[in-house]
Amino acid sequence: MSPDQIEFLKGEYPDFWNENLKSLPAGHWNLIARLFHQCALIAADNGSTEPWVALHFERLEDGLFRAYAAPLVDFQKWTDGSALALIIALQFFNERQQSICEVCGLPGGRHCISPEFCAGKVEKWDA
Ligand SMILES: [Zn+2]
Repeated sequence: MSPDQIEFLKGEYPDFWNENLKSLPAGHWNLIARLFHQCALIAADNGSTEPWVALHFERLEDGLFRAYAAPLVDFQKWTDGSALALIIALQFFNERQQSICEVCGLPGGRHCISPEFCAGKVEKWDA
């Protein structure tokens, strides 16, 4: 990711930011931003200013990241909707990396057919 992308995520989502993510490809910025945003919404939707989950990231052998979430509040407080939203957000992040270009962020595969294809098509990353 670019320094700007990293600074934005660190500043906006300090509870979820993890230094390991510095090596996340720039094209996958929207995926991580969406995951962070969704996790922030789960707390906000339940009237909480504290995070409801801790996120952990593992780098897989194929170079992709896998996100895990550990609940920080008692399960009885979770609504079905919030629990489902978390599962969907995690699955979205974990699976979409395989079909989003690491360079430009366009859908298709992990890489566009050629570097020229990415050039000039770099997805606007600001939220
Ligand atoms: Zn591309």
